[in-house]
Amino acid sequence: KFDVSAPWLNRVVERKPKQYVMAVDDVSFDVPKGGCLSLVGESGCGKSTVARLVTGLYPPSNGSLEFTPDINGAPLSAQMIFQDPYASLNPRWKVRDIIAEPLRELKLRETEEEILARVAELLTTVGLSPNDGGKFPHEFSGGQRQRISIARALATEPRFLVCDEPTSALDVSVQAQILNLMRRLQDEMGLTYLFISHDLSVVRHMSDRIAVMYLGRIVEEAETETLFANPRHPYTQLLMQTIPNIEHPKRAREVTTGEVPSPLNPPKGCAFHPRCPLADARCSAERPAVLTLKDGNRVACHRVEEAEGDSARELTGPN
Ligand code: SF4
Ligand code: MG
Repeated sequence: KFDVSAPWLNRVVERKPKQYVMAVDDVSFDVPKGGCLSLVGESGCGKSTVARLVTGLYPPSNGSLEFTPDINGAPLSAQMIFQDPYASLNPRWKVRDIIAEPLRELKLRETEEEILARVAELLTTVGLSPNDGGKFPHEFSGGQRQRISIARALATEPRFLVCDEPTSALDVSVQAQILNLMRRLQDEMGLTYLFISHDLSVVRHMSDRIAVMYLGRIVEEAETETLFANPRHPYTQLLMQTIPNIEHPKRAREVTTGEVPSPLNPPKGCAFHPRCPLADARCSAERPAVLTLKDGNRVACHRVEEAEGDSARELTGPN
């Protein structure tokens, strides 16, 4: 269970001058052990920030980060896989040294021989050849480089992997190969995934549950097939329309109904109201609470509350 929070006034975390990251407000979710929860939303919704907070790459600015690892009380051992494998692999290192680095750093193997044997095993696990260890990152395709990143992430035998748009830089056919690899690894190693994507179609077959984020908040969270069969939040419905189809197989269509507002100056009430086809006066004045529905799914929308509120188990929030 994760509770990630940073107050409105501290929504941005300063990293370098003029470079900010989106912060998040009261985002709470459960990642089922051995399963996959995906966070989905447009760029700037805070999903990457949540990923980095969860793995400790960013400190929460003035908020809190609490998680309850449910793995026999053991500390959470999380690893992160990034969107751009080329940027995250040192170009001057041979692949075997890239993968061996965490083994050496954490002294997970004693002898050089054991380290190299483990590297060869990891390369095989991700569908590469042990001989590939002698090459440099630039000698590989984008998909192969992502396999190398995955091998490095697995070197420490983590139980939990946070994957931030791991296939977004890849061609569609290569994306499918990497997603298949990740699913196989999950089955074989009992891995738990937090998967971040802007594309619902990418996470559909990975996820047990999907949380849709908008401007630093979760607006809907549901079991995957329920979300696809019955998207309740108007923003989820909008995202569904951007899924690639036969006419547009290459990439998701742009969301055409308006821009994402600045996270520094979020709209009052429901933050989605300037773009929402169902918005009324209440929406621009009052922030919808997160409603937990009878099926265990959550949604934050006045219209859904009016339609389904009677059957809701509880009203939580504000979230
Ligand atoms: Fe749209 Fe209102 Fe629901 Fe927000 S609360 S998603 S503006 S209908
Ligand atoms: Mg991102």
